[in-house]
Amino acid sequence: MVKEVARAKINLTLDILGLRADGYHEVSMIMQAIELADEVELKKSLRGISLTMDATKIIGGENIPLDEKNLAWKAAIEFQKFCGKNLGVEISITKKIPMAAGLAGGSTDAAAVIRGMNRLYEMNLSEEELCKIGERVGSDVPFCIIGGTCLAEGRGEILTKLPPIKNFGVVLAKPHGEISTAWAYKTYDENPAKTHPPNKEIIEQFKRGEYDKAFKNFYNVLENITLKKIPAIADLKSTMLAAGANVALMSGSGPTVFALTDEQNAEKISESVKDSGAQIFLSVTRSEFLGTKN
Ligand code: ATP
Repeated sequence: MVKEVARAKINLTLDILGLRADGYHEVSMIMQAIELADEVELKKSLRGISLTMDATKIIGGENIPLDEKNLAWKAAIEFQKFCGKNLGVEISITKKIPMAAGLAGGSTDAAAVIRGMNRLYEMNLSEEELCKIGERVGSDVPFCIIGGTCLAEGRGEILTKLPPIKNFGVVLAKPHGEISTAWAYKTYDENPAKTHPPNKEIIEQFKRGEYDKAFKNFYNVLENITLKKIPAIADLKSTMLAAGANVALMSGSGPTVFALTDEQNAEKISESVKDSGAQIFLSVTRSEFLGTKN
């Protein structure tokens, strides 16, 4: 049996550069893994792929499919195809990451299955090969395989590992409502952004340890889109900033808002939004890379 920690991600920035001929969007995003995670256990099985999930800790968890539509199941199929072998696996997941929240909950379970099956069956696939498998499941899966801090380009699968940034406390506030990523991107095409995050400049600022300058440059081009559907995002941001957050921004296509802070301030910031009706989670950034050692 192997256990994998399936960490959530936040987007420190999210930029859309255009719509590609293949229907995907060309993106440029700085991605950060955080400690909040699902737990994924894998056992060898002679009876193909099976999946059990305890999703009682998250709102709406009963709606997550438990068949081949589940991204964890899809990942097992793609792993088998890549290896050309019928590698049976019993997948068991304890969900802690809220769903349809912009935190890559499904993608990270898929990534954990790919990393885990590589260990379970001692396939010794390289990080690059694991990411190739992940790409077939979803654009965020390669980042979830690697973790840490990365610049993600292309449709999200072209990754550049960035030097580890200082660890920050993370306060997550997920207001009511779920956002479909497909809806957010489609709506964006009708209202493209005029402001874009200066990703290259932010990366240089990280390297120089100029975090305050970098925070001022954080931007997510989907925020104004999701905001129209879920106005609470604006209030959550301003409340957390007023309570001392270094930066507050929507993650992914939302609607979760994250605040970064020195760890000792995290409690105060979470207190500030506790009566907002949003679900609140305290976490920290995690800078270590998770892929294989080779
Ligand atoms: P992203 O940040 O990558 O856009 P998200 O956090 O917004 O992802 P998910 O939590 O991955 O969204 O959920 C999106 C949809 O995926 C849900 O409708 C859910 O039913 C489905 N899904 C499939 N597999 C899983 C899984 N293992 N965990 C959670 N949701 C899953």
